Amino acid sequence: MSPATAPVTQDVLTLPRKLPEGPVNIVGLTRPALRQALIDMGTPEKQARMRTGQIWQWIYQWGVRDFAAMTNLSKAYRSDLAENFVIALPEVVSRQVSADGTRKYLMRIAGGHEVEVVYIPETDRGTLCISSQVGCTLTCSFCHTGTQRLVRNLTAGEIVGQIMVARDDLGEWPEPGEGMGTRPRLLSNIVLMGMGEPLYNFENVRDAMKIAMDGEGISLSRRRITLSTSGVVPEIARTAEEIGCMLAVSFHATTDAVRDTLVPINKKWPIADLLDALRAYPKLSNSERITFEYVMLDGVNDSDEDARRLVELIKGIPAKINLIPFNEWPGAPYRRSSWDRIERFADIIYKAGYASPIRTPRGEDIMAACGQLKSETERARNARRAQTT
Ligand code: SAH
Ligand code: SF4
Repeated sequence: MSPATAPVTQDVLTLPRKLPEGPVNIVGLTRPALRQALIDMGTPEKQARMRTGQIWQWIYQWGVRDFAAMTNLSKAYRSDLAENFVIALPEVVSRQVSADGTRKYLMRIAGGHEVEVVYIPETDRGTLCISSQVGCTLTCSFCHTGTQRLVRNLTAGEIVGQIMVARDDLGEWPEPGEGMGTRPRLLSNIVLMGMGEPLYNFENVRDAMKIAMDGEGISLSRRRITLSTSGVVPEIARTAEEIGCMLAVSFHATTDAVRDTLVPINKKWPIADLLDALRAYPKLSNSERITFEYVMLDGVNDSDEDARRLVELIKGIPAKINLIPFNEWPGAPYRRSSWDRIERFADIIYKAGYASPIRTPRGEDIMAACGQLKSETERARNARRAQTT
């Protein structure tokens, strides 16, 4: 008799076995990791793949938080799941809504750390700006997050969890059984532009984005996900190969001398190296174009010369240039360029054949705009420090 049909073997295989380290958070486990964990729990290998898909649908498509509600699984199996896994998500500490509809959440993750997450509604889309780290190891001189030291990397579950918690708040989980394509999605796009440098937390960001892009996961097209990096050159090709999402790069300057002061990682990987990596990206990832982010700082990087140099530098790269009016924060050492200056800069780029949208600052009244994010805890700590000095 072959092992597959031997009743004794079957019995042994279906006996639930406890995972060694106690309950595991199921949110953020990749497909292969969940499949393996289900097998370790006693799921027959032949069923593990299907069970993974079923569980994913309940969790990521219908927002179910209780194994008992997963009614296409047997009662015994549901209780095995509840014994071995938990469905743990970040907790919303506060939620602010801007006059323009932007929502900023402060979410608490394990260890009491906090990250900010911003939802930006627009007429044709709703974008969630998520964080990949608590703080940032890099120290870009115009960025508020850069003044906060790194506390830790987020896990894949904490990254994908930000999307799930935002969907709770938007009230947009479909009814169980309902397909994902049946209604327009309020949360239709994701940008990794919150706190942290995503490419310094590569594996967790990758695993979370795989869940976001999977048809049985959050089910967003890879074209609706944009990862923004300050220029971690060695990880750019890997992003194309292992994630395949859209790429944005915090360019911000047209000479190494200026970029060194704004984005200090430039000292390690200067403009020429960065451009080489960017040139290869579209082909490797099969995506149309790269977004160049360019923060407009009065008298620092906003001259006509800069605009012309920028166009020269990126020649040959399919690109869009996103001009970001500098968002001020308390103690910031820069000022925003004037609107005339920004428009003139945009015009030079546009005439050279590139889209050059000026990003409208959103949620400024609640400090939710780009580069204004910083944990409340850190703010509170600094405020206390200021009071005592
Ligand atoms: N660490 C990544 C992603 C987070 S920052 C990166 O640097 O790309 C998201 C975007 O906001 C980046 O382009 C960043 O340069 C920009 N940014 C940071 N501080 C800003 C500020 N004060 N005003 C406007 N844009 C800012
Ligand atoms: Fe970090 Fe990005 Fe801010 Fe630079 S701009 S300090 S990389 S979060």
